Amino acid sequence: MNNTGKLKIIDFHVHIGLKEHWHEWIHEYQKSAHSEYYKRYDEMIDPERFVVYLKSHQIYRAVILPEISPNITGIVPNEYVLEFCQGHNTLIPFCTINPSLVSNPSQELKKYIKMGARGIKLYPSYNHFYPNDSKIYSLYPIAQKNKLPILFHTGSSVFKGSKIKYADPIYLDDVASDFPDLPLLMAHSGRGLWYKKAFFLSRLHSNLYLEISGLPPKNLLNYFPDMEKNIDKFVYGSDWPGISTIYSNIKAIKKLPLAESSIKKILYGNAARILGL
Ligand SMILES: [Zn+2]
Repeated sequence: MNNTGKLKIIDFHVHIGLKEHWHEWIHEYQKSAHSEYYKRYDEMIDPERFVVYLKSHQIYRAVILPEISPNITGIVPNEYVLEFCQGHNTLIPFCTINPSLVSNPSQELKKYIKMGARGIKLYPSYNHFYPNDSKIYSLYPIAQKNKLPILFHTGSSVFKGSKIKYADPIYLDDVASDFPDLPLLMAHSGRGLWYKKAFFLSRLHSNLYLEISGLPPKNLLNYFPDMEKNIDKFVYGSDWPGISTIYSNIKAIKKLPLAESSIKKILYGNAARILGL
C-alpha cells in the first residue's frame, strides 16, 4: 500500500467554460465521456464552489485554460478565465493567443501578463500554425523572461477541423533549443502518432515535458516503457470536463506499478517546479 492517499495534486489541464462558450459538438463529446460537469453545472461555473470541488479531490492547484478556436471548439475568453481565477490561490490562470486572429501576438501577451496570466496554452492544430512559425515566435522571449510555462496541444484531437500536422512535437525542437529556460509542455504527449518522438525529445531537451491528459493511465507504460527513467518530465493533467470525473485518472495513476516517489512527481512535484510553487 503506498502513501499517496493524502498527496496534494496539481492538475495542469483544466478547461472551464459556460455552456454558451462551446459549440454543440463539444458538449456532445463531453456528455459521451459522462462528464459530471453537466450534472453539477452550477457548481462548475462558480469559482468558489469549483475550488471546493477540486479540494474535495485533493487537487491543490489547477491550471485553468481559455481557448480561442471559433471554428473548432468555441471561444472561452482570456478575460473570463482571468476573472474566474481572481482571488483564488487554487486556480492558476493561463492565457491563449490565436496568431491567426491577432495582428500583434506579443502585445496581446503583455496585456494578459499584466492582467495576471501565469502561463500560456497554445492550440497549433486548432488555430492552424506551426509552433516554430515566425508569427508566434515573438511570444517565446517574453514568456521566458516572465517565467511563464507554455502548454502546447500535441497529437490527435477528435474535433473536426483540427489539423494534426501542426501538432507534431518535432516543431518544438526549435523552440526548446532557442529558449532553454522556458518550460514547454506537450499536452497529450504526442497522442496517437508520436509517443516515442515526444518521449525522445523530452529526454533531449531539459525544458521539454510530457503532459499526460487525455491518455488512459492503464496504457501509460505501454506508450512509455521507460517512464521511470524520465520520471522528472511527466506532468499530470485531467483535460476536465472531457472526462467523467476530475479524479478518475488520479485514482488510476496511483495504482500504476511505479515507485511511490515517481507517482508523487507525476501528480505534484514536477508541476510544482515548473510553476515555481
Ligand atoms: Zn484540453
